[in-house]
Amino acid sequence: MEKIVSLCKRRGFIFPACEIYGGLANAYSYGPYGAQLKKNIKDAWWKKFVEERADIVGLDGPIILHPKVWEASGHTSGFNDAMVDCKACKKRFRADHLVEELTGQDLEGNLSAMSEALQGKKCPACGKSDWTEVRTLNMMFKTEMNGIEGPVYLRPETAGAIFVDFKNVIDSCRVKIPFGIAQIGKAFRNEIVARNFIFRTREFEQMEIEYFIDPSADWEPLFEKWLSSQEEFFTEIGVNINNIARFEHSKEKLSHYSRKTVDLEFEYPFGKSELCGLAHRGDFDLSAQAKFSGADLQYTDPNDNAKRYIPHVLEPSFGLDRALLAVLCSAYTEEKLPPPSEGGARGGSVDKITAEDVRIVLKFPPKIAPIKIAVFPLLKNKPALVDKAKGIFEILKKNFTCEFDDNGNVGKRYRRQDEIGTPYCVTVDFDTIEKDDSATVRDRDTMQQERVKVADLPKYFEEKLK
Ligand code: ATP
Repeated sequence: MEKIVSLCKRRGFIFPACEIYGGLANAYSYGPYGAQLKKNIKDAWWKKFVEERADIVGLDGPIILHPKVWEASGHTSGFNDAMVDCKACKKRFRADHLVEELTGQDLEGNLSAMSEALQGKKCPACGKSDWTEVRTLNMMFKTEMNGIEGPVYLRPETAGAIFVDFKNVIDSCRVKIPFGIAQIGKAFRNEIVARNFIFRTREFEQMEIEYFIDPSADWEPLFEKWLSSQEEFFTEIGVNINNIARFEHSKEKLSHYSRKTVDLEFEYPFGKSELCGLAHRGDFDLSAQAKFSGADLQYTDPNDNAKRYIPHVLEPSFGLDRALLAVLCSAYTEEKLPPPSEGGARGGSVDKITAEDVRIVLKFPPKIAPIKIAVFPLLKNKPALVDKAKGIFEILKKNFTCEFDDNGNVGKRYRRQDEIGTPYCVTVDFDTIEKDDSATVRDRDTMQQERVKVADLPKYFEEKLK
């Protein structure tokens, strides 16, 4: 994990937020490559689940919704986590996590049992045993809004807006059940302990779908299909599927309205943890919003006007930051390279590496890689090479995300592009301008190099990067 965190900072993927002020409790900024990587994951998700499907439409609702939405959903009264403080060192813990760590017991939801279980147990931070009572904390961020009395909240999940706009979508978009509404956006949770880099933060992004179905429909095959689609998506963006496992919530742990909930867990370097979830939520959300707002949120069957019902919903919910972290963990590779005399795949004149060199490569699938092609002149101080390379860069950047680099020697530029996961590098050398108008194309994974005519480069990359 440390290696990934340090690479992310060194190479402009993810920075600790507000570092010049000493940082801000586990908040992060996505740097230039991280922002692009995040966008590529979002785009892949939107393409797969909205653009390529006839039965799902998109939505972009506000972050601050009417406070009644959260009363109806139960968040105002019940979106709580249990916390406990060590009186000696003042460190705060999430109580259920701490109890599990110290006793192996899962007592989530039972405050008095957790308080009891902690008696005599030592604080992992200071070694003393002096605990406060376990108590709950609502995780919604409160703020104020002119014209509204009382607090308003930053949304703790994106789903709320989807239920609120359910009727608008039905009335305006000719959707027929079964259909889904998808949304990507920020969510905010005042987590008691934010940790594990971008895995658990207080401000994060979700990609959620509410898939509405007829309550009498056979939902189990649909549920299974959704699970497979979720796994398929992760494979497509480069998450190692062998490190993903399904975890079904036990009947006792299910929310009262849920018929089934399955998390996909990923083997992160700090342990197996939730990557995304899929829940059958019955008609809980629409019924609650209908009750609190007074609106009629029933659906009328277009083939039978007498058939009216509140649909049931399947909710595939993805965390974008957790997906990005899983992509980074899956892509991160360290390779010990053979000495140049043994030839090996790296061959050629421009990819010289010392014998003991270990190369770090982010093996992103090309469609997710932040930069697709890097273009270099062999030497920085030869205007003819620089001009030619810039010309190629200008042409390629019309269709691909490209980078021009003339810093340091070519070997160092390759190392840097490997570390940001760029699938291809193009190097312009003296042969390009004096002989054959061809450039060297170097493949990130095999390190093989081949000469390609400059005029053929756009077509070549269209093939390679499709
Ligand atoms: P956890 O048990 O890890 O707190 P959760 O079950 O509360 O997660 P959901 O309410 O199901 O999470 O939210 C859907 C998705 O949003 C999660 O699967 C996860 O990917 C993401 N997510 C939830 N909380 C956070 C967070 N604090 N930081 C980053 N991503 C989060």
